Amino acid sequence: MKHSSEYFQQRRDRLRRVLKKNSLAGFLVTKPQNVTYLTGFSGEDTYLLLWQDGEALISDSRFTLQIAEECPGVDVMIRPSGVGMVKAAARAARRARLSRVGFEAAHLTVEVRESLGQESGNVEWVSTTRWVEELRIVKDSEEIGRIRKAAGQAMRAFAAIRASLRPDHEEKQIADLLEHQMRLLGARCAAFPTIVAVGPRAALPHAIPGRNRVEEHPILLIDWGADEGWYKSDLTRVLVTAKIGPKFERLYELVLQAQAAGIAAIRPGATAAEVDAAARKVIEDGGYGRAFGHGLGHGVGLEIHEAPSLSPKSKTVLKPGMVVTVEPGVYLPGWGGIRIEDDVVVTRSGREVLTSTPKSLDDIYISP
Ligand code: ZN
Ligand code: ZN
Repeated sequence: MKHSSEYFQQRRDRLRRVLKKNSLAGFLVTKPQNVTYLTGFSGEDTYLLLWQDGEALISDSRFTLQIAEECPGVDVMIRPSGVGMVKAAARAARRARLSRVGFEAAHLTVEVRESLGQESGNVEWVSTTRWVEELRIVKDSEEIGRIRKAAGQAMRAFAAIRASLRPDHEEKQIADLLEHQMRLLGARCAAFPTIVAVGPRAALPHAIPGRNRVEEHPILLIDWGADEGWYKSDLTRVLVTAKIGPKFERLYELVLQAQAAGIAAIRPGATAAEVDAAARKVIEDGGYGRAFGHGLGHGVGLEIHEAPSLSPKSKTVLKPGMVVTVEPGVYLPGWGGIRIEDDVVVTRSGREVLTSTPKSLDDIYISP
């Protein structure tokens, strides 16, 4: 990720203010997406140790050039081979004379935590949860631009695959074609392993694409997304490839109405639970509440699932710049599943839906 050094510097300074508020001298960032967010570095096996008047991006010689390219203005500590990551991080903390240093409890193994304690003398390691994730929850216009681009790549790839779908296509084949198409359209890669499910397989919210062919059942569910410059999109559509009974149409309309209600409830000031409830009520009133077993949606950004989650228990208050999926679903074991998913950014006046792949009942009938 190429950027001016100030762009990431500002993010690190925001984290420094959080440290100050919490009386921490330093902070060790171990989660790769958080390192990326704070420095622009997109490789792996690299920690960021941050304190009020300094920082050290701790990496190894494989990444020297990449860091120079991606992270101008960041202080780097390339650990010699033979000095492990934990030892290097502990050394950096001692060298900066840090007393209390926060670590990411959700992203540090017990083993690493214990050796940090053994290696770092008087440093007190303090458990923290999701501080950087909280900073990431509101996206800036650059980030929204990337998600928008990822959405465009996913939508165009889907349109191409839909147009060339054949009755003998297998689930995995469709997933592979879709992912290839997204790359051809400029995506770095797929945002996550594409889900393609024929018929009853669609009842599994996270079905793994297999050998089932399109012609075996009228329902085809596809859940896919693109990764553009590390930012992701996430959509789901159901296609109908042969004659199908009225039950499907009734259920499809129900899920579509639930999604519309959820999207309409998105605005600054609404809680995530309220948005979930708006959609859930439609499905409950339709008599299928128990067939909708997951939350309404999730944040999307550097990770495919991130804060805020739209779920019955989430107290997050929506703010402009948050990007969430809205994906109600109804799953009936042995019969199949219907899920419709779009990506929505919270704006100052309400919301903007970033994805526009057709989804009305008329649009989803196709004859491969
Ligand atoms: Zn999805
Ligand atoms: Zn999703």
